[in-house]
Amino acid sequence: MSSDAPRHRCTRLSCVTDTEGVGGRSAVVTGGNKGIGAAIVAALLEQGHRVASFSRGGDAPEGALGIACDVTDAAQVDAAFKQAEEAHGPTEILVANSGVTKDTLVLRMSEADFDLVLDTNLKGAFRCAKRASRSMLRRRWGRIIFTGSVVGLYGSPGQVNYSASKAALVGVARSLTREIGARGITANVVAPGFIETDMTATLAEDVVAGYHAAIPAGRLGATREVAATVAFLASEGAGYISGAVIPVDGGLGMGH
Ligand code: NDP
Repeated sequence: MSSDAPRHRCTRLSCVTDTEGVGGRSAVVTGGNKGIGAAIVAALLEQGHRVASFSRGGDAPEGALGIACDVTDAAQVDAAFKQAEEAHGPTEILVANSGVTKDTLVLRMSEADFDLVLDTNLKGAFRCAKRASRSMLRRRWGRIIFTGSVVGLYGSPGQVNYSASKAALVGVARSLTREIGARGITANVVAPGFIETDMTATLAEDVVAGYHAAIPAGRLGATREVAATVAFLASEGAGYISGAVIPVDGGLGMGH
């Protein structure tokens, strides 16, 4: 089905997917090649969406269109969206998920350490949301989901840069909600806790043991648990949820 074909509009409260009887939507996931992003790609594909994954290497999970894109470069972001939209139609779902860490204590944190993390996690997400919202505004439908972190509102020693970048995504999502929320576009933050990926694989054993003790669920999370929440927020049924921060953290950040 062409992306311009008339869409089924679900009026039943029980309807939570937008793929009933249609060919799915055009979705972009940044950092979709591995970790949490790859699980998000898989979940969106499972829902029948057409998915493009942006990453610096350009590789993607099976079934998705891999596009090389460094989100710190506005021209690359624009070119990547152009390529995704030529293949899949105007972007309707954006999951801004690319992220990096550059941890060190504040006294040792250089300007470059701070800037790199902000430029990737915050400004990269801004660049993608800005570009994606162009198509969403025309279609008067859109889902923007930012991968934040429990650390954004909870704080974490050695992560002043990372925590700042993730906290700021809450302001971005809420401002977008107020700016373009009346056009059928939602913007939310999913805030994972400690999830088993490459990003957490390097943690020392005693650090992991400490997390196990602090997390009410008593374990690290799985990537598919984050992906399931993102897929729900991308669905038709989540159309009245916007400006929210949804934790997927086993209870670690309660109240933050
Ligand atoms: P990974 O390190 O496994 O994945 C990071 C992803 O970001 C990769 O796909 C990487 O692709 C991409 N990326 C990094 N820099 C850029 C860039 N400049 N341009 C484009 N893509 C880039 O980490 P996770 O899967 O764990 O993390 C995914 C998201 O979840 C991140 O935003 C992270 O902050 C967040 N998160 C993770 C948690 C965890 O416990 N794992 C907890 C809370 C939040 P490539 O390097 O190929 O470009």
